[in-house]
Amino acid sequence: MKAVVTGGAGFIGSHLVDRLLAEGLDVAVLDNLETGRRENCARALEHPRCRLHEVDIARGVPQAVFAGADWVFHLAGLADIVPSMEAPARYHQVNVDGTVHVLEAARMAGVARLVYAASSSCYGIPEAYPTPETAAIRPMYPYALTKHVGEAYVLHWARVYGLPAVSLRLFNVYGPRSRTTGAYGAVFGVFLAQKLAGAPYTVVGDGQQRRDFVFVEDVVEAFLQAARAPEAAVAGQALNIGAGEPQSINRLVELLGGEKVHIPRRPGEPDITHADIALARRLLGWSPRTSFADGVAAMLRHIDLWKDAPVWDATSIARATASWFKHLG
Ligand code: UDP
Repeated sequence: MKAVVTGGAGFIGSHLVDRLLAEGLDVAVLDNLETGRRENCARALEHPRCRLHEVDIARGVPQAVFAGADWVFHLAGLADIVPSMEAPARYHQVNVDGTVHVLEAARMAGVARLVYAASSSCYGIPEAYPTPETAAIRPMYPYALTKHVGEAYVLHWARVYGLPAVSLRLFNVYGPRSRTTGAYGAVFGVFLAQKLAGAPYTVVGDGQQRRDFVFVEDVVEAFLQAARAPEAAVAGQALNIGAGEPQSINRLVELLGGEKVHIPRRPGEPDITHADIALARRLLGWSPRTSFADGVAAMLRHIDLWKDAPVWDATSIARATASWFKHLG
């Protein structure tokens, strides 16, 4: 069997590539290495069944790469809130136009399954916890909007063209290789770099806010199950993928160990994210297996991955998030 993984040099995509190779598939990785990193898939690329195609999906995708593919996993995209507010057009080009290009290539190739990496940020600040897939859609910034519009295209292609596509709305995914350089973002990278530097953790607000952190290996398993599930059960569905057990930032600090400082609360941030994962459990037969303590311990075993990551402090975070406060405050 053959799989195409867009964003296969990224955090989640590279773990998926490793797993697909281990499962015996041929894997074509599509990545422009703008935010993805060659190191993430360096080992995979030594494998004779794995090939990297350096492609910017915003401009189009080479149809030949999709020829003979059984599964397409579409994870390529631009993440993060602040840069999306500063360059919304680029986010549209990559996350929306790029998705349409991938959908068309998958349709022309007649693939058996396409699985899209959507974002739980589509729910904004939800009213119901745990939050089901039927909750109101309220993107609060261009990243969330473009990922959601991408999902709308995926489900439209499923409806109109019969493309057997599934969308996975990922909650806060964490694990080794979550981005280590560049923009201020995901809390794990920020805290692990601070730990290595002996700097205090920059805890937003009182640290009692909770997130549905889900370990990357569990997410990879969900992608695989979404590819394997019977078409009639999953085609055209959007499914939440989280651990279903929100954890506070203070708990994270406790597990990592060390000092903390408090920084201002950020506008438009939910106090809690909590996935209702009943649908994924039922339709995929999937359930998260990694406890938060075990997941954090796994991150600590790989803490060296963050040795070149920027060490943020209250002042540099205030500077990096200025446009966030300006537009959403
Ligand atoms: N967070 C924090 N300090 C930081 C960065 C994030 O305390 O330096 C908290 C943030 O308030 C949120 C959680 O960590 O509750 C996850 O933040 P992240 O930006 O990773 O994801 P999101 O807010 O998009 O869920």
